[in-house]
Amino acid sequence: MEQYDFIVVGGGIVGAAVYYKLATAHPEAKIVLLEKESALASHQTGRNSGVIHSGLYYKPGSLKARTCLDGYRQMLDFAAEHGVKHDVCGKIVAAVGPEEEARLETLRLRGAENGLDGLRYLSDQELREREPEASATKALLVPQTGIIHYADAAEAMLAAGRGAVRLNTQVTGFTRDGVQTSTGRIRGKHVLVCAGLQSDRLARLDGVDAGLRIVPFRGDYYELSPRAQAKVRHLIYPVPDPNFPFLGVHFTRMIHGGVECGPNAVFSFAREGYTKTAFDAGDAAAALSYAGTWKLFAKHWRYGLGEYERAFSKQKFLAALQRLIPSLRPEDLQPGRAGIRAQALRRDGSLEDDFVLRQGERAFHVLNAPSPAATASLAIADEILRQAIP
Ligand SMILES: Cc1cc2nc3c(=O)[nH]c(=O)nc-3n(C[C@H](O)[C@H](O)[C@H](O)COP(=O)(O)OP(=O)(O)OC[C@H]3O[C@@H](n4cnc5c(N)ncnc54)[C@H](O)[C@@H]3O)c2cc1C
Repeated sequence: MEQYDFIVVGGGIVGAAVYYKLATAHPEAKIVLLEKESALASHQTGRNSGVIHSGLYYKPGSLKARTCLDGYRQMLDFAAEHGVKHDVCGKIVAAVGPEEEARLETLRLRGAENGLDGLRYLSDQELREREPEASATKALLVPQTGIIHYADAAEAMLAAGRGAVRLNTQVTGFTRDGVQTSTGRIRGKHVLVCAGLQSDRLARLDGVDAGLRIVPFRGDYYELSPRAQAKVRHLIYPVPDPNFPFLGVHFTRMIHGGVECGPNAVFSFAREGYTKTAFDAGDAAAALSYAGTWKLFAKHWRYGLGEYERAFSKQKFLAALQRLIPSLRPEDLQPGRAGIRAQALRRDGSLEDDFVLRQGERAFHVLNAPSPAATASLAIADEILRQAIP
């Protein structure tokens, strides 16, 4: 049986970052990364907005805020050093009306407290120069925000780590001396699990009860037609609803070309099903037998209904986008891809806002790593190594 010093489970950006940090800190160690799919970054990492978040939104002092700011700098350094294409193009957050303006000011203060540089409101003329088609009663410039393709970053981390990567290898359980997989047992001294949408299931198999369950929230994107792409120069975001950890449908210029609009946030009946009607009996049963899901539905049914309507009605999706760019027309939007967020839900129906890391009986688990965990991945990896490896 193979014997490793470290087994990393999950070939998304968090697993890749852990692998890279382990290889750097322990150059003599034998490390293997196990991924159940036939390709790396098949789930959240390869299906996200590709934004390098600067730390505007997160509660000062939280693990999210700390690791986002640190991870932001590390991601830029890593990308520069390893030739991963990226661009610090900045974004604007656009408020429409007095209520959103007040929330935008709260965000500005939070961003300043988190240590962001160069945050400032744009004058009407500056907004017109920067984003001529955007409409806002107040617009905050966040110059540090950038774009990247996180699957490229994950590949580069694994290449730089020089260890073994095993695709098509699903971890199905934990043993005293390692893990059980779909292709046999593998021995390892330390096991670090970064399994995204499956994280709660693997944690439960390892005796962790953190009072959390992963609920999948699908995000659909549209793409701007080639003709309409000129309407967006950088990134344009709305002011998010503070009751949810989602940022609202926004415009994102992609690093490999094109402009995406989205994602919405729709409760999904399949953790890894990317169509609007995807259904997985096991996933649906797990979600619907959990008290937290029903409490979430009861509390936020109006919001949920709105998101469902937007998912099935292009007209409604367009209306949300037109608040930011009024000149947008139905023919400007082409159907795009979808991603699914792994979001931890507490039994009381509240969404876990911060990243959650837990030691199990045999392995160390990343239990909640939604956005901005791709940005923060290298700093999350530092935190994991600090907590998991004595
Ligand atoms: C629509 C959307 C937009 C987002 N936008 C941004 C953004 O702009 N910026 C940002 O910073 N973050 C963003 N995020 C969040 C970000 O994508 C995630 O936080 C991040 O990718 C999490 O990485 P991960 O490695 O934990 O999970 P994943 O990328 O999901 O990787 C987990 C991996 O574990 C594997 N796995 C699961 N179970 C097993 C098993 N039993 N055995 C072996 N392998 C297993 C899976 O196949 C998968 O490859 C977005 C997310 C979504 C969905």
